[in-house]
Amino acid sequence: MCTRCFTQEHRSFPTWQAFEQFDLALTQKIQLSGGLHYSGQKQLARLPICTSYTCAACGTEWWLSEPDSAWRGFFLPKGQAKAHLTKLRGLDNVRGWVGLALLAGLLLGALWLLRNLINP
Ligand SMILES: [Zn+2]
Repeated sequence: MCTRCFTQEHRSFPTWQAFEQFDLALTQKIQLSGGLHYSGQKQLARLPICTSYTCAACGTEWWLSEPDSAWRGFFLPKGQAKAHLTKLRGLDNVRGWVGLALLAGLLLGALWLLRNLINP
């Protein structure tokens, strides 16, 4: 991290306007000689695709995930971006298991109700 790239991370973009302001700053840093340059698309497993930018001055590789609908995106150095994505994937897994448990509970409740209706 340096003044040629960014000294502040964005763990998410709370509003579209916040992202637009950031995007403008990013474009200026890319146009700056010796600043950021595009370094490819990156993806971990089936998580959102990130655009990678590397700083010519300090060598930091930044990953940008643009906001999309409910997804708030982020702009973080590579290591933190990977950790952030992994953590989010973990939360998604927990949500999936909670959903499955609720579904199983509803199914058991329906079976119990059916059994009591047939054999009161
Ligand atoms: Zn830099």
